[in-house]
Amino acid sequence: MKIFNTKQEIKAYLTSKKEENISIGFVPTMGALHEGHLSLIKKAKKKNDITVVSIFVNPTQFDNPEDLVKYPKTIENDIKLLETVSCDVLFFPSVKEIYDDNIASEKFDFDGLEHQMEGKFRDGHFDGVGTIVKSFFEIIEPNRAYFGQKDFQQLQIIKKMVKKHRLNVKIKGCPIFREEDGLAMSSRNTRLTKEHRIAAPFIYKTLKKARKKFGTENAIKVTEWVTKQFKKHPLLDLEYFTIAEEKSLKTIKNKEFNNKYRAFIAVFAGEIRLIDNIRLKNH
Ligand code: AMP
Repeated sequence: MKIFNTKQEIKAYLTSKKEENISIGFVPTMGALHEGHLSLIKKAKKKNDITVVSIFVNPTQFDNPEDLVKYPKTIENDIKLLETVSCDVLFFPSVKEIYDDNIASEKFDFDGLEHQMEGKFRDGHFDGVGTIVKSFFEIIEPNRAYFGQKDFQQLQIIKKMVKKHRLNVKIKGCPIFREEDGLAMSSRNTRLTKEHRIAAPFIYKTLKKARKKFGTENAIKVTEWVTKQFKKHPLLDLEYFTIAEEKSLKTIKNKEFNNKYRAFIAVFAGEIRLIDNIRLKNH
């Protein structure tokens, strides 16, 4: 695996490859890699001649400074994991390399997608995401880029950015990878206390029950039910639960036939904020 730390070096390498008419798959990550990340890389490997993974803990997408400082950093293990899936290129730049001395976001208009869910609770988060992903697309010029449905709102926002800015890259959404007990894999899971780790699968269990209830009850009733379940829980604090249309991410009251919906959730397990979502059937 080739490892590059500067824009200039990776650009030079990929430009030489592009001259050979080679396709590039790109998987942006913040490191502390797990099976969920690896599933994206495996998908990219299947479809592209070269797979590039970036590891960059992007400061502009953190609204909580402590979360940024404490974000797990496991680069040596990450490199080992990337080698097990035969990743071709790792881009691992410093903050200075990407932002120089101006750690700030560009402002984006994602047609309202940015104001829903995560956007309500994480100020400026999606401007930070848009800034870094657009900048990486410019450096790497991938043919395809892979994003997890774990961050479904992010996936929809990236698709919107590509469309609005007419970027020449195909965005591929990939399913959520879970631990055996159902907890969605996340780099932040390693920061959970033992107690909170044991409690956390309650999130997905509740989502699955909510999906079942949505078969017979309306979105408001299901939301009330979920809220009640978390009120009773001694260790998990619900930040939000909402049932929204996949395309607009707007919360719904009533379902329409032929429309796609998802339930989205954010929960605090102690200091650690966990998110998850589940596709719903609308009949
Ligand atoms: P992160 O390193 O958390 O920024 O995630 C990098 C990419 O991996 C994003 O596109 C995430 O949506 C995706 N990802 C993270 N966790 C999972 C998971 N459990 N299953 C599938 N994709 C994931």
